[in-house]
Amino acid sequence: MKFHVLTLFPEMILRGLEPSIIGRATEKNLISLDAVNIRDYTLDKHGKVDDYPYGGGAGMLMQAQPVYDAYLHVVENIRTRQRPRVIYVTPQGKVFNQAMAKEMAMEHDLILLCGHYEGIDERVLEEIVTDYVSIGDYVLTGGELPAM
Ligand code: SAM
Repeated sequence: MKFHVLTLFPEMILRGLEPSIIGRATEKNLISLDAVNIRDYTLDKHGKVDDYPYGGGAGMLMQAQPVYDAYLHVVENIRTRQRPRVIYVTPQGKVFNQAMAKEMAMEHDLILLCGHYEGIDERVLEEIVTDYVSIGDYVLTGGELPAM
C-alpha cells in the first residue's frame, strides 16, 4: 500500500513516522510513504500558498492551484487507471473509526490532503476529494497530525 501525503510540512510527516511501526514497515518495503510539499507547486514567486477566500469571508485559505498541481504530480506517478482515493482530513468530516481503516486498507494508493489556516479553497476540494475524514470533534491547527 502506498501513502501519498500532500502537506506544507513534509518533514513533520516523514520524521514523525520514522521511529514508529510505520517507519519500520516502510524500511521493510511493506508499505510506502511519500510526503509532497504543496509549496513546491505554487506559481507565486514568493512561495505564497494562502489567499483570501474567493467570494469573501474571514481568514485565509490554502489556494487551489498549488494543491491541484501537487495532486496532479502524485496522480501522474501512480500506475492506476482508476481515480485515486483522496482523503481530506478536516474537522467537518466523518469521524474516523476502525471499519473505515479496514476499508481504506484495501486501496493500493491513498492520497491524504492536509489543510492549514481556515482550510482549503472549496473549488479544489470539489474537484479532487473523495472522502472527508475527521479524527475527532475538536479543531487542530493543521492536517499533519490527523494524516499521521
Ligand atoms: N474552520 C476550518 C474547518 O472547519 O475546516 C478549520 C481549519 S483547521 C484550523 C486547519 C486544518 O487542520 C484543516 O484544514 C484540517 O486539515 C486540519 N484539522 C483540524 N482539525 C481536524 C480534525 N479534528 N480532524 C481532521 N483534520 C483536522
